Amino acid sequence: MESDTSADAIVIGAGAVGCSVALTLAESGIATIVVERDDIAYNASGYAWGGLSAHFGSGVPGPMTEHYRTSIAKHIALYESFGHDASHDWELQKVTSLSLADNEASAEGLKSDVEWMQSEGFDAELIEAQEIYRLEPSIRSGFVGATHVNAGLELDSFSYTQSMATEAKRRGAVFVDGEVAAVNSTNDRVTGITLADGTELSAGLVVAATGPWTSDVEGIPSLPIKPIKGEILRLSRDGNDLQNRVGFNGFNVGRKPDGTVWAGTYEWDRGFDRSVTSEGKDHIFNGVTEYIPSLQHAEIASSTACLRPVAVDGFPIIGSSSICDGLFYANGAGKKGILLSPLIAEWIVDLIHNEVPPPAVVSSARFSEI
Ligand SMILES: Cc1cc2nc3c(=O)[nH]c(=O)nc-3n(C[C@H](O)[C@H](O)[C@H](O)COP(=O)(O)OP(=O)(O)OC[C@H]3O[C@@H](n4cnc5c(N)ncnc54)[C@H](O)[C@@H]3O)c2cc1C
Repeated sequence: MESDTSADAIVIGAGAVGCSVALTLAESGIATIVVERDDIAYNASGYAWGGLSAHFGSGVPGPMTEHYRTSIAKHIALYESFGHDASHDWELQKVTSLSLADNEASAEGLKSDVEWMQSEGFDAELIEAQEIYRLEPSIRSGFVGATHVNAGLELDSFSYTQSMATEAKRRGAVFVDGEVAAVNSTNDRVTGITLADGTELSAGLVVAATGPWTSDVEGIPSLPIKPIKGEILRLSRDGNDLQNRVGFNGFNVGRKPDGTVWAGTYEWDRGFDRSVTSEGKDHIFNGVTEYIPSLQHAEIASSTACLRPVAVDGFPIIGSSSICDGLFYANGAGKKGILLSPLIAEWIVDLIHNEVPPPAVVSSARFSEI
Protein backbone atom coordinates (compact mmCIF):
# COMPACT_ATOMS: atom_id res chain seq x y z
CA MET A 1 0.00 0.00 0.00
CA GLU A 2 1.04 3.54 -0.67
CA SER A 3 1.72 5.99 2.14
CA ASP A 4 2.71 9.67 2.17
CA THR A 5 6.39 8.79 2.06
CA SER A 6 6.72 5.60 0.05
CA ALA A 7 5.04 4.19 -3.07
CA ASP A 8 5.78 2.30 -6.26
CA ALA A 9 5.71 5.49 -8.33
CA ILE A 10 6.00 9.23 -7.76
CA VAL A 11 4.52 11.62 -10.30
CA ILE A 12 5.95 15.15 -10.21
CA GLY A 13 3.28 17.70 -11.18
CA ALA A 14 -0.51 17.75 -10.86
CA GLY A 15 -1.46 19.26 -14.18
CA ALA A 16 -3.66 17.43 -16.68
CA VAL A 17 -0.77 15.17 -17.66
CA GLY A 18 0.37 14.32 -14.11
CA CYS A 19 -3.20 13.68 -12.91
CA SER A 20 -3.95 11.48 -15.94
CA VAL A 21 -0.75 9.52 -15.42
CA ALA A 22 -1.58 9.12 -11.71
CA LEU A 23 -5.10 7.86 -12.49
CA THR A 24 -3.84 5.36 -15.07
CA LEU A 25 -1.00 4.16 -12.84
CA ALA A 26 -3.35 3.74 -9.87
CA GLU A 27 -5.89 1.92 -12.04
CA SER A 28 -3.16 -0.48 -13.13
CA GLY A 29 -2.36 -1.35 -9.53
CA ILE A 30 0.73 0.83 -9.06
CA ALA A 31 0.77 2.63 -5.70
CA THR A 32 1.27 6.28 -6.62
CA ILE A 33 2.15 9.56 -4.95
CA VAL A 34 1.67 12.85 -6.82
CA VAL A 35 3.77 15.80 -5.66
CA GLU A 36 2.67 19.32 -6.64
CA ARG A 37 4.25 22.57 -5.47
CA ASP A 38 1.35 24.87 -6.40
CA ASP A 39 -2.04 23.18 -6.54
CA ILE A 40 -3.94 20.75 -8.74
CA ALA A 41 -4.59 22.44 -12.13
CA TYR A 42 -2.99 25.64 -10.87
CA ASN A 43 -0.94 26.17 -14.03
CA ALA A 44 -1.70 25.78 -17.76
CA SER A 45 -4.00 22.84 -17.15
CA GLY A 46 -6.39 25.06 -15.22
CA TYR A 47 -6.41 27.92 -17.72
CA ALA A 48 -6.35 26.36 -21.19
CA TRP A 49 -9.07 26.90 -23.77
CA GLY A 50 -10.05 23.26 -23.39
CA GLY A 51 -10.31 22.39 -27.08
CA LEU A 52 -10.04 18.76 -28.14
CA SER A 53 -9.40 18.77 -31.88
CA ALA A 54 -7.55 16.53 -34.29
CA HIS A 55 -7.93 18.57 -37.47
CA PHE A 56 -5.21 21.13 -36.67
CA GLY A 57 -2.11 21.46 -34.57
CA SER A 58 1.45 20.27 -34.45
CA GLY A 59 1.92 17.21 -36.68
CA VAL A 60 -1.41 17.67 -38.54
CA PRO A 61 -1.80 16.59 -41.24
CA GLY A 62 0.85 14.05 -40.38
CA PRO A 63 1.97 11.71 -37.65
CA MET A 64 -0.09 13.26 -34.82
CA THR A 65 -3.54 13.25 -36.48
CA GLU A 66 -4.36 9.69 -35.46
CA HIS A 67 -2.98 10.17 -31.94
CA TYR A 68 -5.15 13.25 -31.44
CA ARG A 69 -8.17 11.28 -32.64
CA THR A 70 -7.37 8.39 -30.33
CA SER A 71 -7.09 10.78 -27.42
CA ILE A 72 -10.43 12.43 -28.21
CA ALA A 73 -12.00 8.95 -28.06
CA LYS A 74 -10.35 8.43 -24.66
CA HIS A 75 -11.80 11.71 -23.39
CA ILE A 76 -15.28 10.64 -24.45
CA ALA A 77 -14.88 7.28 -22.72
CA LEU A 78 -13.55 8.93 -19.54
CA TYR A 79 -16.34 11.49 -19.50
CA GLU A 80 -18.97 8.78 -19.84
CA SER A 81 -17.34 6.70 -17.12
CA PHE A 82 -17.12 9.64 -14.66
CA GLY A 83 -20.86 10.26 -14.48
CA HIS A 84 -22.02 13.76 -13.62
CA ASP A 85 -22.18 14.00 -9.85
CA ALA A 86 -20.93 16.97 -7.85
CA SER A 87 -17.29 15.92 -8.28
CA HIS A 88 -17.58 15.88 -12.08
CA ASP A 89 -19.77 18.92 -12.69
CA TRP A 90 -18.67 19.90 -16.19
CA GLU A 91 -19.58 19.30 -19.81
CA LEU A 92 -17.94 17.81 -22.85
CA GLN A 93 -19.36 20.08 -25.55
CA LYS A 94 -19.43 19.53 -29.30
CA VAL A 95 -18.01 22.55 -31.06
CA THR A 96 -18.15 23.68 -34.66
CA SER A 97 -15.46 26.03 -35.86
CA LEU A 98 -15.20 28.65 -38.56
CA SER A 99 -11.82 29.71 -39.93
CA LEU A 100 -12.23 32.86 -41.98
CA ALA A 101 -10.57 34.08 -45.17
CA ASP A 102 -10.81 37.71 -46.30
CA ASN A 103 -9.10 37.33 -49.67
CA GLU A 104 -9.06 34.84 -52.50
CA ALA A 105 -5.51 33.61 -51.79
CA SER A 106 -6.34 32.59 -48.22
CA ALA A 107 -9.66 31.13 -49.39
CA GLU A 108 -7.61 28.89 -51.72
CA GLY A 109 -5.54 27.80 -48.70
CA LEU A 110 -8.73 26.92 -46.83
CA LYS A 111 -9.90 24.92 -49.84
CA SER A 112 -6.87 22.66 -49.65
CA ASP A 113 -7.35 22.36 -45.84
CA VAL A 114 -10.90 21.16 -46.44
CA GLU A 115 -9.77 18.70 -49.08
CA TRP A 116 -7.35 16.92 -46.77
CA MET A 117 -9.80 17.09 -43.83
CA GLN A 118 -12.48 15.43 -45.94
CA SER A 119 -9.96 12.84 -47.16
CA GLU A 120 -9.20 12.07 -43.50
CA GLY A 121 -12.90 11.69 -42.75
CA PHE A 122 -13.44 14.95 -40.85
CA ASP A 123 -16.84 16.63 -41.15
CA ALA A 124 -15.56 19.75 -42.93
CA GLU A 125 -16.78 22.01 -45.73
CA LEU A 126 -15.88 25.25 -47.38
CA ILE A 127 -18.63 27.84 -47.02
CA GLU A 128 -19.23 31.11 -48.84
CA ALA A 129 -19.77 34.60 -47.46
CA GLN A 130 -23.58 34.36 -47.27
CA GLU A 131 -23.40 31.26 -45.09
CA ILE A 132 -20.74 32.79 -42.83
CA TYR A 133 -23.00 35.75 -42.02
CA ARG A 134 -26.04 33.49 -41.60
CA LEU A 135 -24.15 31.44 -38.99
CA GLU A 136 -22.50 34.38 -37.21
CA PRO A 137 -24.05 37.74 -38.09
CA SER A 138 -21.65 39.69 -35.87
CA ILE A 139 -18.62 38.97 -38.07
CA ARG A 140 -17.57 42.12 -39.94
CA SER A 141 -18.17 42.32 -43.67
CA GLY A 142 -15.43 41.51 -46.16
CA PHE A 143 -14.94 37.77 -45.66
CA VAL A 144 -15.09 35.66 -48.81
CA GLY A 145 -15.01 32.14 -47.42
CA ALA A 146 -14.47 29.95 -44.37
CA THR A 147 -13.91 26.38 -43.33
CA HIS A 148 -16.81 25.04 -41.31
CA VAL A 149 -15.63 22.06 -39.28
CA ASN A 150 -17.79 19.95 -37.04
CA ALA A 151 -15.12 17.77 -35.50
CA GLY A 152 -14.10 19.16 -32.15
CA LEU A 153 -15.04 19.02 -28.50
CA GLU A 154 -14.37 21.41 -25.66
CA LEU A 155 -14.24 21.03 -21.91
CA ASP A 156 -13.38 23.10 -18.86
CA SER A 157 -9.73 22.16 -18.41
CA PHE A 158 -9.69 23.09 -14.71
CA SER A 159 -12.66 20.84 -13.86
CA TYR A 160 -11.35 18.07 -16.11
CA THR A 161 -7.97 18.06 -14.35
CA GLN A 162 -9.67 18.13 -10.94
CA SER A 163 -11.81 15.18 -12.06
CA MET A 164 -8.75 13.20 -13.05
CA ALA A 165 -7.21 13.93 -9.64
CA THR A 166 -10.43 12.94 -7.86
CA GLU A 167 -10.56 9.63 -9.72
CA ALA A 168 -6.87 8.99 -9.08
CA LYS A 169 -7.47 9.55 -5.34
CA ARG A 170 -10.48 7.20 -5.43
CA ARG A 171 -8.10 4.55 -6.73
CA GLY A 172 -5.65 5.15 -3.93
CA ALA A 173 -3.25 7.78 -5.31
CA VAL A 174 -1.93 10.12 -2.61
CA PHE A 175 -1.44 13.83 -3.40
CA VAL A 176 1.32 15.61 -1.48
CA ASP A 177 2.02 19.38 -1.39
CA GLY A 178 5.66 20.18 -1.98
CA GLU A 179 8.36 21.16 -4.37
CA VAL A 180 10.54 18.38 -5.69
CA ALA A 181 14.18 19.50 -5.44
CA ALA A 182 15.87 16.27 -6.56
CA VAL A 183 15.26 12.85 -8.01
CA ASN A 184 17.47 10.46 -6.08
CA SER A 185 19.22 7.46 -7.54
CA THR A 186 21.74 4.81 -6.64
CA ASN A 187 23.86 3.23 -9.38
CA ASP A 188 21.77 5.07 -12.01
CA ARG A 189 18.53 3.58 -10.66
CA VAL A 190 15.79 5.80 -9.21
CA THR A 191 15.24 5.47 -5.47
CA GLY A 192 12.86 8.39 -4.84
CA ILE A 193 12.80 12.15 -4.48
CA THR A 194 13.80 14.87 -2.06
CA LEU A 195 11.48 17.82 -1.46
CA ALA A 196 12.76 21.37 -1.05
CA ASP A 197 12.16 21.11 2.72
CA GLY A 198 14.43 18.05 2.88
CA THR A 199 11.68 15.42 3.17
CA GLU A 200 12.52 12.23 1.31
CA LEU A 201 9.92 10.05 -0.44
CA SER A 202 10.90 6.66 -1.80
CA ALA A 203 9.78 4.96 -5.00
CA GLY A 204 11.37 2.90 -7.73
CA LEU A 205 9.62 4.87 -10.49
CA VAL A 206 9.46 8.64 -10.96
CA VAL A 207 7.43 10.29 -13.73
CA ALA A 208 8.27 13.91 -14.53
CA ALA A 209 5.05 15.66 -15.58
CA THR A 210 6.43 19.08 -14.81
CA GLY A 211 5.02 21.05 -17.75
CA PRO A 212 7.50 23.68 -18.92
CA TRP A 213 9.55 23.49 -15.71
CA THR A 214 12.10 20.96 -16.83
CA SER A 215 15.37 22.12 -15.37
CA ASP A 216 14.39 22.86 -11.76
CA VAL A 217 14.91 19.35 -10.43
CA GLU A 218 18.34 17.92 -9.73
CA GLY A 219 18.62 14.48 -11.29
CA ILE A 220 16.30 15.29 -14.22
CA PRO A 221 18.24 16.36 -17.30
CA SER A 222 17.17 19.65 -18.83
CA LEU A 223 14.61 18.73 -21.49
CA PRO A 224 14.49 20.72 -24.75
CA ILE A 225 11.21 22.43 -23.82
CA LYS A 226 10.33 26.12 -23.64
CA PRO A 227 7.47 27.89 -21.87
CA ILE A 228 5.33 29.60 -24.51
CA LYS A 229 2.89 32.01 -22.96
CA GLY A 230 -0.75 32.56 -23.90
CA GLU A 231 -3.62 34.59 -22.47
CA ILE A 232 -7.40 34.21 -22.61
CA LEU A 233 -9.93 37.01 -22.07
CA ARG A 234 -13.37 36.16 -20.70
CA LEU A 235 -15.86 38.69 -22.05
CA SER A 236 -19.37 39.45 -20.80
CA ARG A 237 -21.66 39.64 -23.80
CA ASP A 238 -25.42 39.37 -23.83
CA GLY A 239 -27.17 37.08 -26.26
CA ASN A 240 -26.51 33.63 -27.50
CA ASP A 241 -24.41 34.16 -30.61
CA LEU A 242 -20.82 33.01 -31.22
CA GLN A 243 -21.75 29.39 -30.57
CA ASN A 244 -19.26 28.59 -33.34
CA ARG A 245 -15.61 29.01 -32.49
CA VAL A 246 -14.55 31.74 -34.92
CA GLY A 247 -10.90 32.04 -35.89
CA PHE A 248 -9.04 34.62 -37.91
CA ASN A 249 -5.40 35.74 -38.06
CA GLY A 250 -4.43 33.40 -35.21
CA PHE A 251 -7.17 34.68 -32.85
CA ASN A 252 -10.20 32.73 -31.67
CA VAL A 253 -13.56 33.65 -30.17
CA GLY A 254 -16.28 31.36 -28.84
CA ARG A 255 -19.04 31.12 -26.26
CA LYS A 256 -18.63 28.75 -23.31
CA PRO A 257 -21.45 26.87 -21.52
CA ASP A 258 -21.60 29.52 -18.75
CA GLY A 259 -22.45 32.15 -21.39
CA THR A 260 -19.13 34.00 -21.30
CA VAL A 261 -17.34 34.62 -24.57
CA TRP A 262 -13.68 33.63 -24.54
CA ALA A 263 -11.11 35.33 -26.72
CA GLY A 264 -7.54 34.26 -27.32
CA THR A 265 -4.64 34.13 -27.77
CA TYR A 266 -0.96 34.52 -28.60
CA GLU A 267 2.21 32.44 -28.47
CA TRP A 268 4.96 34.51 -26.92
CA ASP A 269 8.31 33.48 -25.48
CA ARG A 270 8.47 35.47 -22.25
CA GLY A 271 10.36 32.99 -20.10
CA PHE A 272 8.47 31.85 -17.02
CA ASP A 273 6.46 35.06 -16.63
CA ARG A 274 2.84 33.99 -16.01
CA SER A 275 1.39 37.44 -15.34
CA VAL A 276 -1.57 38.91 -17.16
CA THR A 277 -0.37 42.03 -18.97
CA SER A 278 -2.10 45.01 -20.55
CA GLU A 279 0.06 44.34 -23.64
CA GLY A 280 -1.41 40.84 -23.91
CA LYS A 281 -4.99 41.99 -23.23
CA ASP A 282 -4.74 44.77 -25.82
CA HIS A 283 -3.22 42.44 -28.38
CA ILE A 284 -6.07 39.95 -28.06
CA PHE A 285 -8.81 42.57 -27.72
CA ASN A 286 -7.59 44.41 -30.83
CA GLY A 287 -7.20 41.13 -32.71
CA VAL A 288 -10.73 39.87 -32.07
CA THR A 289 -12.56 43.20 -32.36
CA GLU A 290 -10.97 43.61 -35.81
CA TYR A 291 -13.24 40.82 -37.09
CA ILE A 292 -16.06 40.91 -34.54
CA PRO A 293 -16.39 44.67 -34.02
CA SER A 294 -19.33 44.51 -31.59
CA LEU A 295 -17.03 42.89 -29.00
CA GLN A 296 -15.73 46.45 -28.46
CA HIS A 297 -18.74 46.89 -26.16
CA ALA A 298 -18.09 43.72 -24.16
CA GLU A 299 -16.63 44.03 -20.69
CA ILE A 300 -13.51 41.97 -19.94
CA ALA A 301 -14.80 39.97 -16.96
CA SER A 302 -11.42 38.37 -16.33
CA SER A 303 -8.27 37.31 -18.06
CA THR A 304 -5.73 34.59 -17.41
CA ALA A 305 -2.26 33.78 -18.63
CA CYS A 306 -0.39 30.48 -18.63
CA LEU A 307 2.55 28.64 -20.15
CA ARG A 308 2.48 25.89 -22.75
CA PRO A 309 5.30 23.34 -22.48
CA VAL A 310 6.57 23.39 -26.08
CA ALA A 311 9.35 21.04 -27.20
CA VAL A 312 11.96 22.18 -29.67
CA ASP A 313 10.36 20.17 -32.51
CA GLY A 314 6.77 20.75 -31.38
CA PHE A 315 6.05 17.18 -30.27
CA PRO A 316 5.63 15.71 -26.79
CA ILE A 317 8.59 14.10 -25.04
CA ILE A 318 7.43 10.78 -23.66
CA GLY A 319 9.51 7.84 -22.54
CA SER A 320 12.11 6.51 -20.18
CA SER A 321 15.38 8.20 -19.35
CA SER A 322 18.49 6.92 -21.08
CA ILE A 323 20.62 7.94 -18.10
CA CYS A 324 18.64 6.77 -15.07
CA ASP A 325 16.53 3.62 -14.82
CA GLY A 326 13.06 4.21 -13.43
CA LEU A 327 12.85 7.87 -14.54
CA PHE A 328 10.12 8.66 -17.08
CA TYR A 329 9.18 11.80 -19.01
CA ALA A 330 5.60 12.91 -19.64
CA ASN A 331 6.35 16.40 -20.89
CA GLY A 332 6.17 18.82 -23.79
CA ALA A 333 2.56 18.43 -24.88
CA GLY A 334 2.64 22.03 -26.09
CA LYS A 335 -0.70 23.35 -27.31
CA LYS A 336 -2.39 19.95 -26.97
CA GLY A 337 -1.71 18.86 -23.41
CA ILE A 338 -5.34 18.73 -22.33
CA LEU A 339 -6.23 16.72 -25.41
CA LEU A 340 -3.26 14.37 -25.17
CA SER A 341 -3.26 13.81 -21.41
CA PRO A 342 -5.15 10.47 -21.34
CA LEU A 343 -3.11 9.10 -24.23
CA ILE A 344 0.19 10.20 -22.67
CA ALA A 345 -0.90 8.38 -19.52
CA GLU A 346 -1.55 5.23 -21.51
CA TRP A 347 1.83 5.49 -23.26
CA ILE A 348 3.63 5.85 -19.91
CA VAL A 349 1.80 2.99 -18.23
CA ASP A 350 2.28 0.71 -21.26
CA LEU A 351 5.98 1.47 -21.14
CA ILE A 352 6.21 0.77 -17.41
CA HIS A 353 4.14 -2.42 -17.41
CA ASN A 354 4.83 -3.92 -20.83
CA GLU A 355 7.95 -2.13 -22.04
CA VAL A 356 5.99 -0.98 -25.09
CA PRO A 357 7.82 2.10 -26.40
CA PRO A 358 5.75 5.18 -27.23
CA PRO A 359 5.33 6.10 -30.93
CA ALA A 360 8.58 7.39 -32.46
CA VAL A 361 7.17 10.88 -33.10
CA VAL A 362 6.73 11.49 -29.35
CA SER A 363 9.49 9.27 -28.00
CA SER A 364 12.14 10.82 -25.75
CA ALA A 365 14.60 8.49 -27.51
CA ARG A 366 14.86 11.12 -30.27
CA PHE A 367 16.98 13.17 -27.84
CA SER A 368 20.02 11.03 -27.04
CA GLU A 369 21.21 13.10 -24.08
CA ILE A 370 18.10 12.66 -21.92
C1 LIG B 1 -3.72 30.02 -23.64
C2 LIG B 1 -3.61 28.53 -23.72
C3 LIG B 1 -4.63 27.79 -24.32
C4 LIG B 1 -4.53 26.40 -24.41
N1 LIG B 1 -5.54 25.71 -25.01
C5 LIG B 1 -5.45 24.36 -25.12
C6 LIG B 1 -6.49 23.63 -25.73
O1 LIG B 1 -7.48 24.19 -26.20
N2 LIG B 1 -6.37 22.28 -25.79
C7 LIG B 1 -5.28 21.61 -25.31
O2 LIG B 1 -5.22 20.38 -25.43
N3 LIG B 1 -4.28 22.28 -24.71
C8 LIG B 1 -4.32 23.65 -24.62
N4 LIG B 1 -3.31 24.34 -24.05
C9 LIG B 1 -2.11 23.62 -23.65
C10 LIG B 1 -2.30 22.96 -22.29
O3 LIG B 1 -2.74 23.92 -21.36
C11 LIG B 1 -0.98 22.35 -21.83
O4 LIG B 1 -0.40 21.56 -22.84
C12 LIG B 1 -1.22 21.45 -20.62
O5 LIG B 1 -1.92 22.14 -19.62
C13 LIG B 1 0.11 20.94 -20.08
O6 LIG B 1 -0.18 20.13 -18.98
P1 LIG B 1 0.96 19.61 -18.05
O7 LIG B 1 0.32 18.78 -17.01
O8 LIG B 1 2.04 19.04 -18.88
O9 LIG B 1 1.60 20.96 -17.43
P2 LIG B 1 1.08 21.97 -16.30
O10 LIG B 1 -0.37 22.17 -16.34
O11 LIG B 1 1.96 23.16 -16.41
O12 LIG B 1 1.40 21.19 -14.96
C14 LIG B 1 2.72 20.93 -14.54
C15 LIG B 1 2.73 21.00 -13.03
O13 LIG B 1 3.99 20.57 -12.55
C16 LIG B 1 4.25 21.28 -11.37
N5 LIG B 1 5.69 21.24 -11.11
C17 LIG B 1 6.69 21.60 -11.93
N6 LIG B 1 7.88 21.41 -11.34
C18 LIG B 1 7.62 20.93 -10.10
C19 LIG B 1 8.44 20.56 -9.00
N7 LIG B 1 9.78 20.64 -9.05
N8 LIG B 1 7.85 20.10 -7.88
C20 LIG B 1 6.48 19.99 -7.79
N9 LIG B 1 5.66 20.35 -8.81
C21 LIG B 1 6.22 20.81 -9.94
C22 LIG B 1 3.80 22.70 -11.70
O14 LIG B 1 3.55 23.45 -10.53
C23 LIG B 1 2.56 22.43 -12.52
O15 LIG B 1 1.37 22.52 -11.74
C24 LIG B 1 -3.39 25.73 -23.92
C25 LIG B 1 -2.37 26.47 -23.29
C26 LIG B 1 -2.47 27.85 -23.21
C27 LIG B 1 -1.36 28.61 -22.54
